[in-house]
Amino acid sequence: MTAQNLPHEPEFEQAYKELASTLENSTLFQKKPEFRKALQVVSVPERVIQFRVVWEDDQGNVQINRGFRVQFNSALGPYKGGLRFHPSVNLSILKFLGFEQIFKNALTGLNMGGGKGGSDFDPKGKSDNEIRRFCVSFMTELCKHIGQDTDVPAGDIGVTGREVGFMFGQYKKIRNQWEGVLTGKGGSWGGSLIRPEATGYGVVYYVEHMIKHASGGKESFAGKRVAISGSGNVAQYAALKVIELGGSVISLSDSQGALLLNSEEGSFTPEEINQIAAIKVERKQISELASTSAFASKFKYIPGARPWTNVTGRIDVALPSATQNEVSGDEAKALIAAGCKFIAEGSNMGSTQDAIDVFEAHREANAGASAIWYAPGKAANAGGVAVSGLEMAQNSARVNWTSEEVDSRLKGIMEDCFKNGLATAQEYVTPAAGSLPSLVAGSNIAGFTKVAEAMKDHGDWW
Ligand code: GLU
Repeated sequence: MTAQNLPHEPEFEQAYKELASTLENSTLFQKKPEFRKALQVVSVPERVIQFRVVWEDDQGNVQINRGFRVQFNSALGPYKGGLRFHPSVNLSILKFLGFEQIFKNALTGLNMGGGKGGSDFDPKGKSDNEIRRFCVSFMTELCKHIGQDTDVPAGDIGVTGREVGFMFGQYKKIRNQWEGVLTGKGGSWGGSLIRPEATGYGVVYYVEHMIKHASGGKESFAGKRVAISGSGNVAQYAALKVIELGGSVISLSDSQGALLLNSEEGSFTPEEINQIAAIKVERKQISELASTSAFASKFKYIPGARPWTNVTGRIDVALPSATQNEVSGDEAKALIAAGCKFIAEGSNMGSTQDAIDVFEAHREANAGASAIWYAPGKAANAGGVAVSGLEMAQNSARVNWTSEEVDSRLKGIMEDCFKNGLATAQEYVTPAAGSLPSLVAGSNIAGFTKVAEAMKDHGDWW
């Protein structure tokens, strides 16, 4: 069975085709035709676990949700990837996320396989007690299938340190083991410093290298106007790091609407970002803050909108950091028209295939620094899972590294991730004269070949 036989899994199909098309359009299969077989094998999960999650709401009613864990690939290490709690969760979404995670984790250079899981449970509007009861019930089943050397889940959309805590506690009770079975833990009980910040910081570190490379070392984030979507953990820390590096943050958003500066000058301040972070802890919407006088005088709030076509003035960098398929082909064109030169995904599969085609065509048709340069999530947002890998290493060694130590390792991993994608693109894809190498092709080929070679060594294909 190949991915092409599964038309009822549109998100997985999209992720598979995105990877497969970049491999096909490179010289990889000419140089190594046997890798076609590896692509077929890697696109089928090693194991999919589906289960029932029954929990009690605050009114005493029985509630039922679906739970999943896709253990996609363990060639490079234990299955590793987050848990997503969101009403949209289904097997197609978790297979796409698990598939992306295999290659992302390979790009970090750490020993992690790929997996993803979650539930169609909606944390919005739930009380803390309901969330705790749900997490306990979810882990009562999941704990049979995971372990520090088997499968190490973490957070994703709807799963923060609080949920990780409830799940960790239940795992420990049932298995009677304190082990690094989840990452994103609290700092006093095994969590790594910088893990909450890592995905957002990592995206910005990655884009720093893009800017430096494209400008021949002349430019940095200083003075850049950065449009960000989302307002969760990734968006918040990306925004704070952009500001620290001298850039301006000109938009944020949530599932209900976009909040944008209403002038061509200025930036969100760290205080405003912290206010947004505080309401998100309470699972509230940005619209509640947008209507306060302090926000209403500086920002426009557009219900139901995404930031890309609504920014006042120029955009230099776009960081989609909300969810999958949050940049359409038309929005990609609008970003280019607004002057955007760098787009890097904090979210997984943030761009539709149409949008990627627009970005890649523009890169091919323009020389160097005048082109838009697109970095896919599996490279640009690898910092989160990378620090999860560092958390696993600290747990195994029973040590805690300082923030400086973790941050410096994160910077090194993001630099390697960028340089690996760049060098691999230069090796396998012939760019149009003067154009920048394709980071999407380079990252896909680098991640895929590493996993394919390990699988061959293990006798998974021949
Ligand atoms: N959910 C995050 C991702 O998409 C992090 C996964 C992890 O830390 O295991 O990469």
